[in-house]
Amino acid sequence: MPFTKKDLPINVDAIKGFLADDEGEALFAAASESITLGPCLEVGSYCGKSTVYLGAACQQKNGIVYAIDHHRGSEEHQLGEEYHDSDLFDAQAQLMDTFKEFRRVMREAKLEDTVIPIVAASKLASTNWSTPLGMVFIDGGHSLDAAMADYRAWATHVSVGGILAIHDIFPDPTQGGQAPYTIWKLAKASGLFEELPTVNTLGLFRRI
Ligand code: MG
Repeated sequence: MPFTKKDLPINVDAIKGFLADDEGEALFAAASESITLGPCLEVGSYCGKSTVYLGAACQQKNGIVYAIDHHRGSEEHQLGEEYHDSDLFDAQAQLMDTFKEFRRVMREAKLEDTVIPIVAASKLASTNWSTPLGMVFIDGGHSLDAAMADYRAWATHVSVGGILAIHDIFPDPTQGGQAPYTIWKLAKASGLFEELPTVNTLGLFRRI
């Protein structure tokens, strides 16, 4: 039987986040097939919804997921912005803090033996990175600067045969922001990747 979200160790519908079921299932499949090439790394974990799919796939094969997020929210999550969630606001610090919720989700999903959180900006986390990765999933900030920094920091670490996944691909600008699509086009034009079929808004490539 093909994997579905019902096979996950936690009810993903109860996890805060922005990921469709078919996208999550595609992440699971991509992580599952690429883990033999190296660990999986995601940028932009938020509360861990996508991390649960990636983690469940890697756990089955004794793999590791590095989950990078500064946990201060993207532009659209900030106080007064469209996707602000007051449950995730640290009033004392006057900042977003999604790490507490992320940890709760990882514990509940029994993924603490598989997922390594890195609480830092993506560019900083990449500073001394040298481990080849089986899969990179970019789902970070949607400003052009943030998306470009994530692409530049991580795309070249994907092992040959491994997967680069980019979330929130909207070729039609009336449907969504263009920064993820911009880096998707860069990946396509780079000569480093073969394009795989897009799943909903999840762009997928294989490193060649
Ligand atoms: Mg996203």
